[in-house]
Amino acid sequence: MREPAPSRAVSSRDGRRRIVAVLILPQTLLDDISRAAEAAFPHECCGLLAGRADGRGGQTAVTRVVPSANVTEGRAEDSFEIDPQVRFDLMRALEGTDEAIVGHYHSHPGGPAEPSATDLRMAYETNLIWVIVAVAEGKVIDIRAHGVDDDRNAFHPIPLRPTG
Ligand SMILES: [Zn+2]
Repeated sequence: MREPAPSRAVSSRDGRRRIVAVLILPQTLLDDISRAAEAAFPHECCGLLAGRADGRGGQTAVTRVVPSANVTEGRAEDSFEIDPQVRFDLMRALEGTDEAIVGHYHSHPGGPAEPSATDLRMAYETNLIWVIVAVAEGKVIDIRAHGVDDDRNAFHPIPLRPTG
């Protein structure tokens, strides 16, 4: 199993794509994610994050949390899949706005808020932020954000800043 990449120096651009230096998440939306993670326990919850990448210092601000059913064909205790219809509907809802899908969230029942080996295999889109919620005995104990390295061989931590 691969360990998460160590934190690296970040800048707003690395020449090819934006590097997200910080993820801003309003506390009310964090609370929504926590409630969903606890309600789904011992299964994984999942959903999408919409927001704005304002470019200033690589900040991305989440504006909406959109829950999805976990439609995994595997074990919902340790895998997740966001309903493609939920993503399609959200993309349509965001058309013509300055918001976009910036990432997604899921929970790790009984696991850490770090990406698993399965998560790394599923990390196809390097532009999406992964928010992972650690749930122990039905209670949220940790929430962390991660980015996918360009070569998709590892994740890197993204500082998560709650607001409000
Ligand atoms: Zn996971």
